[in-house]
Amino acid sequence: YRAKEGQKSYQVYSPAVHTQFFKRLQLEQTLYKALEKREFVLHYQPQVNINTGKITSMEALIRWNHPEQGLLYPNKFIPLAEETGLIIPIGGWVIDEACRQYKLWQQKGYSDIKISVNLSPNQFRNQDIVTVVKQALDRHNLNGHWLELEITESIIMQNVDNIISILHELKRNGIKVSIDDFGAGYSSLSYLKRLPVDRLKIDQSFVVDIPVDPNAEVITTAIISLAHNLGIGLVAEGVETDAQASFLKNRGCEIMQGYLFSRPLPVSGCDKLFNGGKSFGQFQ
Ligand code: C2E
Ligand code: MG
Ligand code: MG
Ligand code: MG
Repeated sequence: YRAKEGQKSYQVYSPAVHTQFFKRLQLEQTLYKALEKREFVLHYQPQVNINTGKITSMEALIRWNHPEQGLLYPNKFIPLAEETGLIIPIGGWVIDEACRQYKLWQQKGYSDIKISVNLSPNQFRNQDIVTVVKQALDRHNLNGHWLELEITESIIMQNVDNIISILHELKRNGIKVSIDDFGAGYSSLSYLKRLPVDRLKIDQSFVVDIPVDPNAEVITTAIISLAHNLGIGLVAEGVETDAQASFLKNRGCEIMQGYLFSRPLPVSGCDKLFNGGKSFGQFQ
């Protein structure tokens, strides 16, 4: 379609846009059925205490075994799930599945680790997330003490007072809460002292530039001292090199997560990791 001759012509239709539109529609339809067809799977990435070399927690990260496209990562379908509201049932499945898997690990005796689950803002906005989480814990006979929920700064900016009361309710049930991708959002720091959060996860965009970019080091150091001064725990994300691990360790950030230690693993890989009794503490 083209605008009238003589006027500035512009395309409102193009094969590329057309293809994109149908790809998305198709993805939306298969996404809708994916839960029913049990095509989602959780991989788990360890968080490691650099001083003891021990795994402290496993973060559940969703993947989609797409019938044609193979294993898809969350950036390919979580935004669509959020736009369509499908994140509510998918997110509910994630919480339940992570609890189910965690219970199995506990029964095998891997008992002093925790489990972390990522939540989308919609899961706070459009449902009673406390009930959803408590029901999953009950179903699998788990104490909330073992569960950590990862939220992002964008959740907090929406309705601070409401979020604070939800966080307090989670806390009353022993559930831990961390702020994921900390520093990457553009929120005010002042809310931090009002929020009952347990940990900050230093965004990997800062960690990746250590030690190349002095600004990344300054910001990372500032986040570490902020957390220490507020009495909040820390995790560094995206740790890939010895130099990054040493830098973080020397500044007092002892819990780390990243490819240096392990990529996210399917359950079979996690079992190998636990059984191997691997120690991760060789950094100076
Ligand atoms: P996130 O929660 O910040 O998770 C960290 C991401 O960084 C993961 O990507 C992980 O595989 C990746 N990563 C870990 N270590 C390294 C490293 O050393 N280097 C690099 N370059 N990357 C590393 P993934 O699994 O693709 O997940 C991306 C995002 O998708 C997550 O970021 C989270 O925001 C979202 N997500 C994943 N699972 C879920 C879920 O079940 N529900 C919701 N709502 N969001 C999820
Ligand atoms: Mg996370
Ligand atoms: Mg993150
Ligand atoms: Mg992220």
